[in-house]
Amino acid sequence: MIRQAKGKTPRRPPPKKPSNNQKDPVGVYCRVRPLGAEDVECCIEVISNTTIQLHAPDGLKANRNGEFKETQYSFKKVFGIKTTQGELFEDVAKPLVEDIIHCKNGLLFTYGVTGSGKTYTMTGSPGQGGLLPRSLDMIFNSIGPYQAKRYVFKPDDKNGMEVQNQVDALLDRQKRDSQTTVPKTPTTRRIDPEFADMISPEEACKADGVDEDSSYSVFVSYIEIYNNYIYDLLEETPIDPIKPKWNGAGTPLRNNTEFIPPQSKILREDQNHNMYVAGCTEVEVKSTEEAFEVFWRGQKKRRIANTQLNRESSRSHSVFIIKLAQAPLDADGDNVLQDKNQVNVSQLCLVDLAGSERTSRTRAEGSRLREAGNINQSLMTLRTCIEVLRENQMCGTNKMVPYRDSKVTHLFKNYFDGEGKVRMVVCVNPKADDYEETLLVMRFAEMTQEVEVARPVDRPICGFAAGRRQRNQAFKEELTRRLEECGGPVDESPTVLNQLLQSFPPLPPCVISGPNDDVTLPRLIEALEKRHKIRHMMIEEYNKTAKMLKSVLQEQDSNLLSKENFIQEQRGKLGEKEKMIQNQKNEIDRLEKKSKMLEYKIDILQKTTNIYEEDKRSLQQELESREQRLQREMSEKRRVETRMQGIVTDAKLKWEKECERRVNAKQLEMQNKLWVKDEKLKQLKAIVTEGKTENRQPQRPSRENDKVPAKRSASPSPVPTGPPVRPLHRRSHSAGGERWVDHKPTTNVDLDTVLQPNIPNAIKVNAPNEKALSKCDKYVLTHQEVASDGEIQTKLIKGEVFKTRGGGQAVQFTDIETLKQENPVASSRKRRSSGTGPDGETMEGDWTDVETRCSVALEMRAGSNLGPGYQHHGYPKRRKP
Ligand code: ADP
Ligand code: MG
Repeated sequence: MIRQAKGKTPRRPPPKKPSNNQKDPVGVYCRVRPLGAEDVECCIEVISNTTIQLHAPDGLKANRNGEFKETQYSFKKVFGIKTTQGELFEDVAKPLVEDIIHCKNGLLFTYGVTGSGKTYTMTGSPGQGGLLPRSLDMIFNSIGPYQAKRYVFKPDDKNGMEVQNQVDALLDRQKRDSQTTVPKTPTTRRIDPEFADMISPEEACKADGVDEDSSYSVFVSYIEIYNNYIYDLLEETPIDPIKPKWNGAGTPLRNNTEFIPPQSKILREDQNHNMYVAGCTEVEVKSTEEAFEVFWRGQKKRRIANTQLNRESSRSHSVFIIKLAQAPLDADGDNVLQDKNQVNVSQLCLVDLAGSERTSRTRAEGSRLREAGNINQSLMTLRTCIEVLRENQMCGTNKMVPYRDSKVTHLFKNYFDGEGKVRMVVCVNPKADDYEETLLVMRFAEMTQEVEVARPVDRPICGFAAGRRQRNQAFKEELTRRLEECGGPVDESPTVLNQLLQSFPPLPPCVISGPNDDVTLPRLIEALEKRHKIRHMMIEEYNKTAKMLKSVLQEQDSNLLSKENFIQEQRGKLGEKEKMIQNQKNEIDRLEKKSKMLEYKIDILQKTTNIYEEDKRSLQQELESREQRLQREMSEKRRVETRMQGIVTDAKLKWEKECERRVNAKQLEMQNKLWVKDEKLKQLKAIVTEGKTENRQPQRPSRENDKVPAKRSASPSPVPTGPPVRPLHRRSHSAGGERWVDHKPTTNVDLDTVLQPNIPNAIKVNAPNEKALSKCDKYVLTHQEVASDGEIQTKLIKGEVFKTRGGGQAVQFTDIETLKQENPVASSRKRRSSGTGPDGETMEGDWTDVETRCSVALEMRAGSNLGPGYQHHGYPKRRKP
């Protein structure tokens, strides 16, 4: 059968779909049902809302030598045992329902072993409706007010949808009404308690963004795939007593006369390359209840078939297809646009797959085993398809996906190949018995998650302006109001017409009995005339109404026109405003740019400032260090200055002292010279005077001793004439009891000499006086003078004291001792400056000559206390008697 199907439909190039590179992985969810009352050991643990963990049951572990460990499996979301049907719907099916309303396809299937909760999840139970009734409910809640009248949409037999004109639709509706015996009132809908209260009203939800300017219609199909045969569960099977009764596999039925088994269907590809079940019943439904009633009908049929044909329901796949046809309203917003190309059909496939367990588990035998093998075959094919898809996507290969190997995969081919969301709810029973099967389920689930399906794109919308439906409704309301105003209730007009129609007199029998029959024809004429009259009346009525309608329409037109003008005006204003906004935006842009520029500038300036400040700081530091250096140098300078000043003062002092010493020496020298000259002069004078006196007085005998006392002058006589010269070095004889006058003038400079003349028993004087001289017989003058070499030399001028005739004392100089200090370094200078004094004056006069000096005598008068330097004019003191 599978091979046949392969051969029948030749492969065609893949359909041209709008280019769409976006892909989404198959959404795989996991639902864990609560552990049954009879089960004790649990092998599944929900560890997060995306992950479950499988533990191998104890027995199994022992058998496999601990080969199985704990394994974790992740899903888009995991729903634990406490998850309600509503919560599951919210996450899993709601987005698919939203998609179908927005013209996108969806596929949702439950997968798992028998008893894992697939049917519970998909269908649910009273009070706990599953994904299917909830999806239907949401669809009708969303499109409720925008549904098209029945039979406006009509499926063709090629998986397409046509839009019927109103008349045909009406005729079809009438036909349906005449056929169905079931009353249409909604109150009688919930006849079957089995599907009553599947969803409580407060759980109702609605899709957003439903296009109000479209009309919608829902069609449902319900098929079962068993043993790779497709059966239409909604097919109305006419009782055909002639045809033999067969089961689906082609085996004649043994013992059922009333049950007519369904005929298997085939799959076809439509012009858009979508797969569909050819000749499958599509029931147009107008409410959740109606849809669910249809579903329940199918369920019943399925149940009956399974019992009659001795089939196991867990071995069949059930597919419930919700088709939503939608087409835009025409420009008036009154009717569905009569354009097949504008009709959009989207579908949501809800699949409750057969139990995924292996054959052994069901302990099937014979044909049942074969069937089971085939069922297994479909799921195997599904697994293979998923594997190949995954491999192609991951490795970039282009292996052929074996969709055609089973009806289930062939039917879903478009979802995996084309576009549309695919979601799978993996149902698991946590009981330990199912462990091994569950493990396989998990592996399949993991693999499926890696398959990606192209994301559906939004369909283009029709070219009509939005809001048509509302406008039309508003118009109708307005019309009703006007008609009411014109007189009488609105719904009277059809009644009037009806009455008129009814008041047409029935035509009399038109059979003319004979040539003499004058009754029939006149009667007919009369009746026709009557009818003619009524027709006239009706035409008039019609014209009146038409006129009125026309005026109303014209008014509406003008209204519309003015509104359009207004809209145009508003649009213009809007345009202006937009322009203004644009301008302002530009301005803002400009200002932003400017501000950015300024910020940039500020930044640069800031940086420059920083650099300058850095410079300033470093310069200041340099300045400070320089100032410090300057300060240091200044203080150093001051220190040097004070030191130099000290040196200068020292030198100055030294030199002052030196100068003073030299001046003193010079003075002394000059005094001595002066004194010597004075003395000479005196001696001469004395000689002169003596000569005169000798002339007047009797001459005394000249004595050697007298010669000296004749000198009245206190100064030593430098006159070489006649002074008694004693030989030098007579000290031995005078050293005994002699007494000395030690004359040291105060002007003498202390020369710091080591050897100092020390005369014992001497009377020390600063200036010679008579008293001292009278007591002594020897006189010594410590005289300092500048030698020819510029050095100070000390001379000890010695003399003998003797009494003068006038009663005074006279000193005759007899000897000079010279004491001299020498600077050993200045020897050369001594030689050089010979004959020149320290002041540069020549030492002429040469009184320093020892011979000359030795001849100088000193005469001191009694009472004189001045030194020889000041006493050169000394006169003998007149003693009072
Ligand atoms: P499957 O369709 O996979 O064979 P069913 O849906 O028939 O399994 O579930 C088997 C039984 O388990 C049913 O009686 C069902 O009510 C019950 N069941 C399954 N899932 C749940 C659930 N999540 N919560 C409560 N009961 C459940
Ligand atoms: Mg089931």
